[in-house]
Amino acid sequence: MNFSKLKFGSTIGIIGGGQLGKMMAQSAQKMGFKVIVLDPDIACPCRYVAHEFINADYDDPNALNQLGQKTDVITYEFENISASQLQALVSKYNIPQGYQAIQVLQDRLMEKQTLQASGSHIVPFIQLNDCDDLDKAIHSLGYPFIVKTRFGGYDGKGQILVKDTTNLDEARKLIQNQACLAEQYLNLSKEVSMTVTIGLNNQITYFPLQENEHQNQILFKTIVPARTEHNTSQEARNEVNKIIKHIHFIGTFTVEFFIDDTNQLYVNEIAPRPHNSGHYSIEACDYSQFDTHILAITGQKLPCQVELLKPAIMMNLLGRDLDVLEDQFAEHPEWHIHIYGKTARKKNRKMGHLTILTDDVNETEQSILKQFERR
Ligand code: ADP
Ligand code: MG
Repeated sequence: MNFSKLKFGSTIGIIGGGQLGKMMAQSAQKMGFKVIVLDPDIACPCRYVAHEFINADYDDPNALNQLGQKTDVITYEFENISASQLQALVSKYNIPQGYQAIQVLQDRLMEKQTLQASGSHIVPFIQLNDCDDLDKAIHSLGYPFIVKTRFGGYDGKGQILVKDTTNLDEARKLIQNQACLAEQYLNLSKEVSMTVTIGLNNQITYFPLQENEHQNQILFKTIVPARTEHNTSQEARNEVNKIIKHIHFIGTFTVEFFIDDTNQLYVNEIAPRPHNSGHYSIEACDYSQFDTHILAITGQKLPCQVELLKPAIMMNLLGRDLDVLEDQFAEHPEWHIHIYGKTARKKNRKMGHLTILTDDVNETEQSILKQFERR
């Protein structure tokens, strides 16, 4: 289908109504677009900010067609939708993002093979077809290594760190149930990411390099600009530029990187959608990652450069942080609070985030850690 330039008043369909869908919808509405969201959860965060809600599973063909018929463009907030269904929709409706990025990136193995073909620097890995292949992993990667499921993992789910023989049974169990791969475990000095938006005529907009700290494999906080060597940001851009020659992207996506203790940069993985580590851009940049996504998928010109207006810290608010938040909220006007509106408050569930703009990132980092002391 044509990549059409949509006028304000047009309707955007979003597959998935979590926090990413919600923040996309908020950007879209700011620009005068209407939003219809499809999600199986009647209480999903996006529901009450959307003009219309289709309550259905992500793979319900009738519901997806209904979304296509009622909207002028379709986008998605997560990568685990069926690539073949998306492909069928692409032939009928306006879906500038296409299905290829989803097809490649929802399978960790295909993702790594594509990254390899693009010449990106990635962590050594091997495919695990069955438990016998664990011997190959031990032989070629050495301990420690991580076994990761090819499909469906997020926030470290579906991963087993194999430090030595004592973890092999656990790894075998995972491999028996699901297709996996094994990856060398690095001594990380830092994790960083770069959010990028691609628009019409391959226009490309980079966000600044983001420094990410994970706890229990869940993103804990993001600091921008990343506190890295001067040339790391350019190296990351170079990796992004290799990748986009091999994967068709339109809209916002994020490349996650590892930096090891010898200061080597590795591409870890790619999220073909707005990303948790880009949330700071809502307050800290002149365009947020959601704004540029909406501009791209509706066929508008992108800003050549996204400006970081002030250094920023974004911290995720998990279920267990909400008590502190409720207690402290009134005292901290400098906290830009986002609460997603999820009904069930679970200890490790992402319930919201806060962003602080600051001239002294290190000091603000210390004070916020003190506030949420249990970290
Ligand atoms: P997910 O899809 O769950 O985000 P990732 O591959 O990004 O999966 O892994 C989650 C986190 O686990 C990473 O951000 C990093 O902190 C840690 N991790 C994953 N792979 C490695 C590795 N090879 N070496 C060291 N740490 C790793
Ligand atoms: Mg990750």
